[in-house]
Amino acid sequence: MKTNDQDKELSRREFIQQTAAIGAGIMFASSSDLFAETKQGRATNMNIKSKGYAARDTSGTLTPWEFERRPVGDNDILIDVKYASICHSDIHQMKGHWGPQQYPQVPGHEMVGVVAAIGKKVTKFKVGDRAGVGCMVDSCLGCESCKDEEEQYCPKTVFTYGYPEKSSPTGISQGGYSTNIVVRDHFAVHIPDKISFPEAAPLLCAGITTYSPLMKADLKKGIKVGVAGIGGLGHMALKLAVSKGAEVYAFTTSPGKVKDILAFGAKEAIVVDNISKLAPYKGKLDYMICTIPYQYDVAVYTSVVKHYGTYTQVGMPEKFELTLNNLGLSISRVNFNASLIGGMKETQDVVNYCADHNVHPQIQIIKAEQVNEAWENVVNKKARYRYVIDAATF
Ligand SMILES: [Zn+2]
Ligand SMILES: [Zn+2]
Repeated sequence: MKTNDQDKELSRREFIQQTAAIGAGIMFASSSDLFAETKQGRATNMNIKSKGYAARDTSGTLTPWEFERRPVGDNDILIDVKYASICHSDIHQMKGHWGPQQYPQVPGHEMVGVVAAIGKKVTKFKVGDRAGVGCMVDSCLGCESCKDEEEQYCPKTVFTYGYPEKSSPTGISQGGYSTNIVVRDHFAVHIPDKISFPEAAPLLCAGITTYSPLMKADLKKGIKVGVAGIGGLGHMALKLAVSKGAEVYAFTTSPGKVKDILAFGAKEAIVVDNISKLAPYKGKLDYMICTIPYQYDVAVYTSVVKHYGTYTQVGMPEKFELTLNNLGLSISRVNFNASLIGGMKETQDVVNYCADHNVHPQIQIIKAEQVNEAWENVVNKKARYRYVIDAATF
């Protein structure tokens, strides 16, 4: 006859057996989870919580915002952002200079960090890799532009913030002034160990935007290259051209930048406090890149390039408008063109090139709470030369 104690013992054993079985299940589940943790990181089908600074209207003032990003899809990676830098374009777009915007909107298209999760089909990255994202987060990957590795010219390119994005819980892409980003793996680049995170961030827009046209200019030792506008983009153009052996003429409206410009390796720093300062350089340069992001006298600037030389505009003015004086341009007979960032392969190239050749942007690291002040400084030409936000402060 079973005693109460025996009953209790039986139930205790059953309980242990059942628990062990469940436990084994849990163990199994945990080890596969653990596997997922090491191989795929925090991959989950849930939206990813993110925290950043967003514009709420055209005032140009950013405030903290908590929002969600899409889950990590099969071809996506999740990057924990470490640093995000400030581009003048962020300010133009948030203030509505390029057309009406949806708010809240998180700006930022220069960000670097560590891969925290990868989708099932991702082979380009593994968890723990250093990665960066620039101005694009998606494209069709099938059209001629995409096949030519010029994804920025794909009709379906999704730019990093403010673009309609079906998979985004907010309906638009949200940028890098935030703690993380979910991005299709193709649109992230590897950040080599030999360049620091804060110095790598500005390469994702300022670096590629100037590197791409400079590479097409076939820089050779001794070629005379002009750089107009020495801000975030201009100082990178200057350093890149110098590193390729070019003789660089830097045109600035800020006398306070002359010392830096010469330290960056320019042959001459020309302070254009009056447009007549360009006259002595008429027809002297082989190539010129212009980063000025507002209306200026294009004909006079292009006249410093020799006949049939090339002049590339990369600065993006308000309303995208630049007025060209046809007579001025025809007299110089300069090949005027404009260029938009660069493709993903070239973006990886510029990051590798800068890491290998010690071409580093000059940066100032700031906390998130200083971002509004930093934006004012960018507009007032006081930035020296790229503000980089420490993402730990978002
Ligand atoms: Zn930019
Ligand atoms: Zn395409």
